[in-house]
Amino acid sequence: MFDEVKRNLYLETDESLTLDKKTNLLFEQQTENWQLAKNGYSSLKLVGKKIFEFDDFIIEAHYNPGRIVSSSAKVDEKSIKERPCFLCINNLPEDQKAVKIDDKYILLVNPFPIFDKHFTIPHVQHIPQTIKENFKSLLAISEKLNKDFSIFYNGPKCGASAPDHLHFQAGNFGFMRIDNEFYSILNKYGKLINDSNEYTTTAVTNYLRNFISIESNEIKPLTNEFMRIYDILSEGLNDEPMLNIICTYNNFWKVIIFPRKKHRPTYFFEEGENKILISPAAVDMGGVLIFPREEDFNKIDKETVIDIYSQVTFSNDEMSNLIKKLKV
Ligand SMILES: [Zn+2]
Repeated sequence: MFDEVKRNLYLETDESLTLDKKTNLLFEQQTENWQLAKNGYSSLKLVGKKIFEFDDFIIEAHYNPGRIVSSSAKVDEKSIKERPCFLCINNLPEDQKAVKIDDKYILLVNPFPIFDKHFTIPHVQHIPQTIKENFKSLLAISEKLNKDFSIFYNGPKCGASAPDHLHFQAGNFGFMRIDNEFYSILNKYGKLINDSNEYTTTAVTNYLRNFISIESNEIKPLTNEFMRIYDILSEGLNDEPMLNIICTYNNFWKVIIFPRKKHRPTYFFEEGENKILISPAAVDMGGVLIFPREEDFNKIDKETVIDIYSQVTFSNDEMSNLIKKLKV
C-alpha cells in the first residue's frame, strides 16, 4: 500500500503512545528542527485579527500572508498535472517528519499554518480527494486524535489546494469559533431532523453559514446517516457535491457538514481594487476567515463578511429543500 519511502520519514517515538501524544511530539520536533516550520509558526504572532460580533456568535478575520500559495492555488486539471504533488511522500522536504496513523494515512506538520498547531493528514497514495469512500477514515482518525483537535475535510472544489491527493487536516480544538459555539448555535438555530438512540441529526438555518450536524457514538449509523445526506446533495450531479466537513471526537463524534454552492465568491475574480483574495474552506466555515493579502484584510467589513458567506453557502431555501428530503 505504501509508496516506497526513500528516507527515514517517521518520527522516532514510543509506539505505545496515543496519536494525540505523538502528534504533539511531532509538532515540538518540527518547530525546533525544521526551519520552514519554525518560521511558519513564529510568523503566526504577526497575524492581524479583526473581530465581527453577531448576535450569538463571532467571526474572526485573519490577515495571514503565509497562506497566499494555498488561497490562490490554481486547482484546474492542467495546473494540477503540471506541478509536482506536495503531498506525495517522496516529494516531502528533507527535514519533514511524519507520524504513521495506520496503513493508509500519515500526519505531517503544516509549515504554512492557520492554527497554533496545524497538521496535514495525507493518504500514502496519490489518489483523488473524495469523501464518500473515506468518511469512515475521517471518523477513525478523529477518534484517535481525540478532543484536543478538530479534523476537517475540504472538497476538491471547496478549498482543497491538492484536489488530486486525498488528505484531511487537523488543528487545535477551540481555534475555530464553531468548536465552542456549536451547542449555542444548535439551540438557537437548530431544527431536529432525526433523533434516534444511535444518532442525532440537526439542520441549522437562518444562520450565517447554514449546516447539518450529526452527533453519534457509533460509526455505522453515523456513516449511514452521512451517506443519506451525501446522496441527497449528489442528486443530479456527476461529481462530489460541494462541501466542507469539521469533525471532533469527545466520547462521541460531532460532524458538521457545510453544503456549498460556490467554490469562491465573486470578489476573488474581480480585478484591481474590487478584488478580495479569499478562497473559503472549512476553517472559514468554522468562523475564521483567512485573508492572505493585507489590502483585503484592511477593507473587510461586516457587510462583506455576510456577503462572502451568503455567496458560497446554502441559502435558507436550499436548506429547506434539503430538510424536506431528509425528513422523508
Ligand atoms: Zn500526491
